[in-house]
Amino acid sequence: ATLAYDDSNIFARILRGEIPAKRVYEDDFALAFHDISPQAPIHVLVIPKGAYVSWDDFSARAPDAEIAGFVRAVGHVAREHGLVAPGYRLLANVGGDAGQEVPHLHVHLFGGRPLGPMLA
Ligand code: 5GP
Repeated sequence: ATLAYDDSNIFARILRGEIPAKRVYEDDFALAFHDISPQAPIHVLVIPKGAYVSWDDFSARAPDAEIAGFVRAVGHVAREHGLVAPGYRLLANVGGDAGQEVPHLHVHLFGGRPLGPMLA
């Protein structure tokens, strides 16, 4: 069962412009901004504009156009930051075992240094 979306979460507030973020990209489907606690020289969060708790919720419920728009936005942000040639990492935490902190789907984009082994 998917948790109900709570629009008081911090990323919903960023989407509404209620709290600031260092925005790097925005289109009809997605917003990208710098993580407040970067774990790499480039650490950007990409979120869909729709109200989805997680990758699970998004993949189950979102219309195809929103899924396509979001996936393209993630790729666009990586290209815009020059990360294709050196390489980069995408990560989405889903739920408690993964340590998901914010209940609005976000994909982490890491780059700018060799990233090492995948799991901590
Ligand atoms: P999670 O653990 O849910 O996958 O990742 C949440 C991420 O959101 C963390 O990397 C954390 O640093 C980031 N974060 C939490 N609050 C804020 C905020 O208010 N602004 C920004 N830009 N990032 C945040």
